[in-house]
Amino acid sequence: MQSNNEWGEFFPIALSPFAYNETIAQEYFPHSKQEVLERGWQWKDRKEELPKVTKLIPAAQLPDSISDIPDDILNWAIQCEATKRPFKIVKQELEFYRNMHLPIPRLHPDERHKRRMALRNPRTLFLRTCMKCQKSIETMYPPERPETIYCEECYLKEVY
Ligand SMILES: [Zn+2]
Repeated sequence: MQSNNEWGEFFPIALSPFAYNETIAQEYFPHSKQEVLERGWQWKDRKEELPKVTKLIPAAQLPDSISDIPDDILNWAIQCEATKRPFKIVKQELEFYRNMHLPIPRLHPDERHKRRMALRNPRTLFLRTCMKCQKSIETMYPPERPETIYCEECYLKEVY
């Protein structure tokens, strides 16, 4: 490892037990299957299997209120409103939604994850000035954003 200058570096991707598209790397640095294979990395095709269920229900047909959801939903697959991929609700999840008085989700878990990730700020730093002390700072908030941006020192004084 020392002769190859690998010592002290992260493990090479060739040793990863996971395919590229199974890792969070695909979210930050998305590549097509062809690009991944050309680089000699692993790719795993997703095999969509219909869960073993008694009924497939389109998400739009679900009752809005959690109190109208029968226990039998644990034996159904719900068809995602956006992707049409089927997904199941597990017992613990149903109990959670009932305890919190939340409706049953209408989107596949992967689609929910994708939409949550889209809400994050881009991984870019912008040079701005603290809106309190005018010190130069780097922030993920672009200059056109309406949020009040403070340097760490001013922020900590403000919140404590
Ligand atoms: Zn400041």
